[in-house]
Amino acid sequence: MLSLHTSPLAPLGGRETGGMNVYVLEVARGLAALGVIVDVFTRRTGEAEPEVVEFAPGARLVQITAGPVDRLEKEDLLPFVDAFVDRVEVFRAREDAAYDAIYSHYWLSVAAGDRLASMWRVPHEAMFHTLGDVKLRARASESERPERLEAERRLVHSLDRIIAATEHERQLLRQIFRVDAHRIAVIPLGVDLSMFTPRPQAEARARLGLDPARRFVLAVGRIEPLKGLDILIRAIGELQVRVPVDLLIIGGDERAEPEIERLRGIAAEVGATAAVQFLGSKPHDTLADWYAAADVVAVPSFYESFGLVAVEAMACATPVVASRVGGLASTVVDGRTGYLVPWRCPEPFAERIELLLRNEPLRLALGAAGAERMRNYDWSVVAERVGAATATLIEEYRRGLAS
Ligand code: UDP
Repeated sequence: MLSLHTSPLAPLGGRETGGMNVYVLEVARGLAALGVIVDVFTRRTGEAEPEVVEFAPGARLVQITAGPVDRLEKEDLLPFVDAFVDRVEVFRAREDAAYDAIYSHYWLSVAAGDRLASMWRVPHEAMFHTLGDVKLRARASESERPERLEAERRLVHSLDRIIAATEHERQLLRQIFRVDAHRIAVIPLGVDLSMFTPRPQAEARARLGLDPARRFVLAVGRIEPLKGLDILIRAIGELQVRVPVDLLIIGGDERAEPEIERLRGIAAEVGATAAVQFLGSKPHDTLADWYAAADVVAVPSFYESFGLVAVEAMACATPVVASRVGGLASTVVDGRTGYLVPWRCPEPFAERIELLLRNEPLRLALGAAGAERMRNYDWSVVAERVGAATATLIEEYRRGLAS
């Protein structure tokens, strides 16, 4: 697996550490549990980091020196892709490894994987996580770098298989890029059902030291404009005059400070300064209590290719109010496990959250339905499906090579 720009072992909630890191870690672990040997290659960002870390039996992280051994913005990494490829090959030769397939994540890794796949004569599959043209089309970003757009437009056609998170993404790949249907497989992301379980709200609050009597809306994720937190803060500003409510925001590291300042400005503008609390990033394995402690989890994103936070919250039996965009529209069932509302509109967010805060039986029923729905979303199922798709691909590729 290639995860060039971010390590699956990096702390989550930073500017570039979220769903993709969870995906790579969970799928690598799940494949290893099925007996597939997995090496995940990432770019080294610190001198102190060991070259090889075995993070599960049969699954290793290999940190490759390519460019400065430092944290760089992903926008600055393209010049180091060739060095990354060369060093991966040096590692492979030293280990005398013979990989059967490459699974790349995000376009920078796909660019690296493209060269490695021809060098090693193995099939190449990828998940893009986001695509520049899709973000532009969804009006989730105003501009994308031309080198990214050009690379993606080329790479979608050189891959042997693209793994899309949803049927919607598959359609976008067909419509925007004209990718052949048989080269796209839809495999949704998952949730760790041993970690994200329903639990009594009062107990979760007691463990976290949260007031048992207050109403809490929770948002979790990387802090960036795409996550639409400004919309949610405006909704809270509107709502708190009718129902006292606090908004807890988990996520963000020191690089998120300018965005947090902007959001605090919006909170002040709508008179919600006291109601909005930025709690910083929290370790993934502590989040279940936060989801269960919240009355509602809000996902106001302008775009989500899948949206792991929504499925994690539902697995903990908390209803989700989310924008009707990307993957959220297929994981959240409107009126049954939460509500889907038009993006970029504070009013419907306020209205749906209020409905849930005022009607406890409804809130509990939607929460329970969410937990029920998540039962077949376990990461082990995702890994099995990725494993099966990859095995088929390897077979097809070998037949193609042989004929
Ligand atoms: N996350 C976390 N701690 C934080 C913030 C986020 O563990 O402080 C995790 C969260 O549980 C989820 C992932 O980061 O698994 C975010 O994934 P999502 O698909 O919601 O958003 P993305 O990062 O892909 O935009």
